[in-house]
Amino acid sequence: MSDRPQYVLALDLGTTGNRAILFNQQGNIFGQTYQEFTQHYPEPGWLEHDPQEIWQDTYNCIKQVIAKTNIEVSQIAAIGLTVQRETCLLWDKTTGEPLHKAIVWQDRRTSKICNDLREQGKAETIQQKTGLVLDAYFSATKLQWLINWVKENKPDVNWDNIIAGTIDTWALWKLTGGKVHATDISNASRTMLMNLDTGDWDKSLLELFNIPEHIMPEIRPSMSLFGTTDTEVLGAEIPIAALFGDQQAALFAHGCDRPGLLKCTYGTGCFLVAQSGTQVTRSQQQLLSTVAWSTPEQTNYALEGAIFTTGASIQWLRDGLKLIDSAAESETLASQVPDTNGAYFVPALSGLGAPHWDMNARGAFLGLTAGVKREHMVRAVLEAIAYQVKEVVEAVNQDSEKPVSLLKVDGGATQNNFLMQFQADALGVEIERPVILDATAQGAAFGAGLTVGFWDSYQDLVSSRKIDRVFSPGEGASGAQANYSMWKRAVERAKNWIE
Ligand code: ADP
Repeated sequence: MSDRPQYVLALDLGTTGNRAILFNQQGNIFGQTYQEFTQHYPEPGWLEHDPQEIWQDTYNCIKQVIAKTNIEVSQIAAIGLTVQRETCLLWDKTTGEPLHKAIVWQDRRTSKICNDLREQGKAETIQQKTGLVLDAYFSATKLQWLINWVKENKPDVNWDNIIAGTIDTWALWKLTGGKVHATDISNASRTMLMNLDTGDWDKSLLELFNIPEHIMPEIRPSMSLFGTTDTEVLGAEIPIAALFGDQQAALFAHGCDRPGLLKCTYGTGCFLVAQSGTQVTRSQQQLLSTVAWSTPEQTNYALEGAIFTTGASIQWLRDGLKLIDSAAESETLASQVPDTNGAYFVPALSGLGAPHWDMNARGAFLGLTAGVKREHMVRAVLEAIAYQVKEVVEAVNQDSEKPVSLLKVDGGATQNNFLMQFQADALGVEIERPVILDATAQGAAFGAGLTVGFWDSYQDLVSSRKIDRVFSPGEGASGAQANYSMWKRAVERAKNWIE
């Protein structure tokens, strides 16, 4: 067998699980592995991940995909890494041991810190500097909480040895055998500590959150050489040539490289991201201004509507309520009834993101009568996903000159045909679903392969992507749109629920 590099390996470290996918020269999937990992809920509204489990699973996924496809490690031209964003941790660089579990982006434990900052009048400056709405979603207050926890619970720690990072930084550090402590600008732009105009850590924000600068990773361009895998880790030195936040990677895969192009990824949450070109664009509708990606020569920006709980509510139906056996069963059940029989679901299980930004909202089922069955409740949960996306599309429409006329989608939950049809009905626009739903991994692979010259044309890669199905608004459209206003009433009832 030739050991000329023939593949690019994408590592997609998501909120629910980790994926390793090998892409061949044609940009097609050659082999893949996936492993779901443990969600720890230590208190209501809190969510943690075990960083050691994330790394161990990532390592196992790499080993398995290589074994399964019977290739040599040396046949991998480059690795592209993409991760769940904002989730962060502290670890000791001398032992490699995390000091606490990672605090996940959905975790609300720092809501009070944010509310206090808002009362002190800091929200506007933070938004001006970072492009982000002051919220517990982002890493800054989570890192502050972790630092305080360590100071209280491990007072003897030597802070010279402690380093911080989001999941990309942790995985990169592990892959390089502890040699590289860096992040990319798209992940950094989600920490609420990076100045969007300069692309550097903002000293006044680090001070505000009491975060020592020396624990922060170096910020580098998304598509650049971050380092090579340590021979002790994979048995060969493979360049790690792209790093993206998961939503930015999907945007890249969809070919959304010009203003006017946008996509929505349906995973744990839904993230509608619109490319805004090489200038930072500010929203009038509480959308986030963020970095799309960068090369050493150029930075692209985006506007984003982040919805926290979408696929996660399907997981909750499965694991929490045990109303369904598998995520796929939600489609079967929802299709068995013509409507929700008056039931509405507000998916504020982790508060509400765009366009409400209400950390104190909590989930609710409203409109229940004795006739409401399991099928209706499952359908109400799926409809709520589509309605949340509709709210964000409306916000994007208000921010832009031209209304959204086509939505490109990807992510685990887009396998659900009921959801996709209902989405087209609710929005009244076409939904375009590609064959490869793992756009996140695909974007990371494209970025890494282009950086090392494994591929030379981004446009060719994008145009070789195949469409699986287009969902057009159909006979359900009038009903879906009529019920939207009732659903919005339900949302109003669930807002500002906890003190
Ligand atoms: P992430 O990257 O956030 O981990 P994925 O893109 O891997 O997300 O998608 C997983 C999510 O999609 C889970 O929350 C799961 O509940 C949801 N999901 C998977 N299949 C379906 C389905 N058929 N219908 C609805 N939701 C689904």
